[in-house]
Amino acid sequence: MGAEVARPQYSGILPGSLSQQYNVCGNPNCRGKASPPQRHGAYYELNYTRKGKGGSRFVEREEVNLVKRQIANYTRLRALIDRWIDLGTKLADLKLATHRRSLKRAR
Ligand SMILES: [Zn+2]
Repeated sequence: MGAEVARPQYSGILPGSLSQQYNVCGNPNCRGKASPPQRHGAYYELNYTRKGKGGSRFVEREEVNLVKRQIANYTRLRALIDRWIDLGTKLADLKLATHRRSLKRAR
């Protein structure tokens, strides 16, 4: 293998949001059943909706920062697309108005 090449940090995109979960396990003496309960956790979970379907996936503690970056990338992408649609719509309106003016002139 050759020398390592520096690559731009692109971590991909993930829709959804992170939440923390606290659980009670199957152990009959689980501290989650004490009072006050001390549940296990926090566990991290990504919850998302994609094409009308919801889902979730477990996220390891060591993956939390990476997943946060991936979610931020998704949020940024959606914001950019929204802006693109807004500007594109304005441009389309201007093009149509110009086109109609030239049609009127030709008649
Ligand atoms: Zn337990």
